[in-house]
Amino acid sequence: MAVARPTFIDEVRQSEQFNAAACMNCGVCTAICPMGLEHLPREIFRYVVLGMEEEVLKEQETVFSCLLCKLCEENCPAGVHITENVRSLRHYFDRKAFRI
Ligand code: SF4
Ligand code: SF4
Repeated sequence: MAVARPTFIDEVRQSEQFNAAACMNCGVCTAICPMGLEHLPREIFRYVVLGMEEEVLKEQETVFSCLLCKLCEENCPAGVHITENVRSLRHYFDRKAFRI
């Protein structure tokens, strides 16, 4: 069973922004993504917000598959800064890999 850790989002943020609180799970981003990424952004962002680190760690490949094309962001009705969040997640994975 997945364990939630409330301080996880602070680790993802560190020196950068991560904000997905406005996401209303509408699915526009998933429908429009040219890479067909089903779990990014909304599902993985929700895991971060809920502190579900284990679930996020399973999605490393997905996070690095994003083209940062901003198509989803430009069409997001909630104005979520999706690519900025993806960059923060990549930096989180890098810190985790290199223990920095
Ligand atoms: S388009 Fe925006 S509000 Fe809709 S699910 Fe994606 S991130 Fe959330
Ligand atoms: S920025 Fe990433 S998640 Fe968004 S549409 Fe482009 S490839 Fe998909």
